[in-house]
Amino acid sequence: MRLCDYMSNCLLHPTLGYYTTRDPLGAAGDFITAPEISQMFGELIGLSLAQSWLDQGSPAPFTLAELGPGRGTLMADVLRATRSVPGFHAAARLILIEASPTLRAAQGRLLQPFAPQWVDMASDLPEQPLFAIANEFFDALPIRQFLRAGTGWRERLVGLEGEDLVVGLGNPAPHPDLSHRLADTKDGDLVETCAPALSVIAALGQRIAGHGGAALIVDYGDWHSLGDTLQALKGHKSAGILDDPGQADLTAHVDFEALAQTATTTGCAHSRLTTQGVFLDRLGITARAQALSKGRNDADIATITSAHRRLTNPEEMGNLFKVLGLYPAQANSLPGLTS
Ligand code: SAH
Repeated sequence: MRLCDYMSNCLLHPTLGYYTTRDPLGAAGDFITAPEISQMFGELIGLSLAQSWLDQGSPAPFTLAELGPGRGTLMADVLRATRSVPGFHAAARLILIEASPTLRAAQGRLLQPFAPQWVDMASDLPEQPLFAIANEFFDALPIRQFLRAGTGWRERLVGLEGEDLVVGLGNPAPHPDLSHRLADTKDGDLVETCAPALSVIAALGQRIAGHGGAALIVDYGDWHSLGDTLQALKGHKSAGILDDPGQADLTAHVDFEALAQTATTTGCAHSRLTTQGVFLDRLGITARAQALSKGRNDADIATITSAHRRLTNPEEMGNLFKVLGLYPAQANSLPGLTS
């Protein structure tokens, strides 16, 4: 079985999949994400998107979309922070791209006043201006892994040895999609590809280039992928990827260079890849933390201060997570990002 088939079955199998059957977020779950740490994250993202909407002449109607919205917390913060942006809510059509019925229900409970619609894929988004956010979405999309063998590649595959799942290697074969990686790899190096991520970017980029809009993609990863980044997480601890199929979160680092290249082919521009810490700092997270702390007791202030540190400190999420912005070639980059 290809790794991408294993990964998509583990995560999204209709009755046994990790995301389909549970809400994995929060202290009691398997992992915690930036919007679950603090409202400041979604608020600043909302203001960056809204400013970009104003800069592009306040197009109406427009799609306000989130990919993989989890519990809906980030979007609720986006909507609260943009309440006073004239015309923004009236023009927004809220569309959520979510595969998990459990999480769709949670999103519906929280965002019900904004009448969200759900679609399965980015290609289902309407042909109109699109302002979109994806936080920790692309890392959940299924990857394939290839080991360099001469000028060919051996795919890493999941199989059975007796009753046990094992990872093995396919026979060496040429791989036209990887020909550009022959220049920067040597025998035995491992590269990852994520075809679904490129389809999503193509759909977003095509709408942004054609109708206007912007997208913010926040995830862990880097500008160029090399090496095995597939990991399993269960109960906030790292686990083996074959240990507990469907019971652990599986993610891989995002290769932002591949996303940016695909965006460019749609005619869309992309920002420089920026660390989450720098992005939030430029958007004024420190001033926001100070404003939230006003008149609060010591315990609340300690919580706000610690959230600020977790989101921005280079030793915590600040450097590990990166932000890439997409915007029309003739428009300015989004606030918080440089072109
Ligand atoms: N953005 C949220 C949740 C991140 S977890 C947060 O920051 O808290 C990943 C999210 O992506 C979940 O909502 C999961 O159900 C969704 N997801 C994963 N794979 C998906 C796919 N192929 N299509 C649509 N949604 C997917």
